[in-house]
Amino acid sequence: MIDCIFCKIVAGSIPASIVGETERSLAFRDVSPRQPLHILVVPKDHHANVADLSLNDPESLVDLMQLGSRLANELTTGHFRFTFNTGEFAGQTVFHAHGHITSNQPVTS
Ligand code: 5GP
Ligand code: ZN
Repeated sequence: MIDCIFCKIVAGSIPASIVGETERSLAFRDVSPRQPLHILVVPKDHHANVADLSLNDPESLVDLMQLGSRLANELTTGHFRFTFNTGEFAGQTVFHAHGHITSNQPVTS
């Protein structure tokens, strides 16, 4: 989608610190980390939020969860949060579905 920052990261037209990917999903470090480990996991296709993704492309949601969980288990001691802000008044600021993986116990940050 034009003017979507995460679509631009997926396309490679703006840089990001990529930590993993599958055919359907991409994981990269949050530009403003709020914990020692803070990565974002996004579907490569544009969906406005996780609720839309769950309805419109559930296989991509499963793929996103599996990629995020695998990376979280590699990058932490196994204790992490995996959260999805959904809607402006829940704190969503980028309207391309994404999960936040945060941990204060990274193995590597
Ligand atoms: P939200 O507030 O929508 O749940 O999360 C959006 C997240 O995207 C924020 O944590 C913010 O720091 C991150 N973010 C915004 N713009 C960029 C960017 O250009 N690159 C990266 N890597 N993260 C971004
Ligand atoms: Zn997008």
